[in-house]
Amino acid sequence: MTEDSLSRTTPFVVAVDGPAGSGKSSVSKAVAARLGFAFLDTGAAYRSLTWFARQRGIDVTDSAAVIDAIADFDYRVDTEPNSQRVLVGETDVTTAIRDPEVSARVSAVARVPEVRLRLNELFRSILTGTDHDGIVAEGRDITTVVVPDAPARILLTADPEVRAARRAGELGGHSAAEVASQLHARDRADSHVVDFMTAAPGVTTVDSTELDFEQTVDAVIDVIRAARAANAGATADPSRGGTDA
Ligand code: C5P
Repeated sequence: MTEDSLSRTTPFVVAVDGPAGSGKSSVSKAVAARLGFAFLDTGAAYRSLTWFARQRGIDVTDSAAVIDAIADFDYRVDTEPNSQRVLVGETDVTTAIRDPEVSARVSAVARVPEVRLRLNELFRSILTGTDHDGIVAEGRDITTVVVPDAPARILLTADPEVRAARRAGELGGHSAAEVASQLHARDRADSHVVDFMTAAPGVTTVDSTELDFEQTVDAVIDVIRAARAANAGATADPSRGGTDA
């Protein structure tokens, strides 16, 4: 073991999940920027794989073809919260993966168990490999499947009407009713794969229905501070388990 690997502490992992439009992406990014942490948007990988399959003319409901495509899926993502560039091969897909065409098909890709296994491996390697003190990772099964042992795990929720109105505001130009129906359809499709509406044991719920953006960021940071303090206490007390924060 080198001196460098001995002195390197485990990054503090913050896992945030929740339904579409709960603000988990924008809130997690702002939290990461405030804490000087890296940021990982796991949905971007599912979206990029969907974009990649479409580029190859693959019908995304053909699971075997999607699984085959993973072998050539060269995915790179920037984990700086303020520069979230996503590349597939040499193509910058940062904007293309937000296209409604991709949003409408991504659930079909995300429900393939082999796809989830492969992307989860990728996420775990990004989480442990970060050179920041900590990393905020967001996605629908982050707290339960990807890093169930993360020291800070948060479920970000909001009432469905509030989520739809926020998403419509973000997308601009689309009718609120159209956005609401797409968002609820995606929640329904995704909920067959993971339960992201109820907090698993040990996961703290932050409901942003009545909070504005800054208040939500503050509420999430409060949860992280409490978890860091508890984690530091656990580390200091040799009679209890725990990792460095
Ligand atoms: O978070 P975002 O809306 O960009 O995610 C896009 C889609 O990727 C989700 O609707 C879901 O189908 C899938 N996803 C997932 N598990 C994750 C992140 C995203 O299944 N951890």
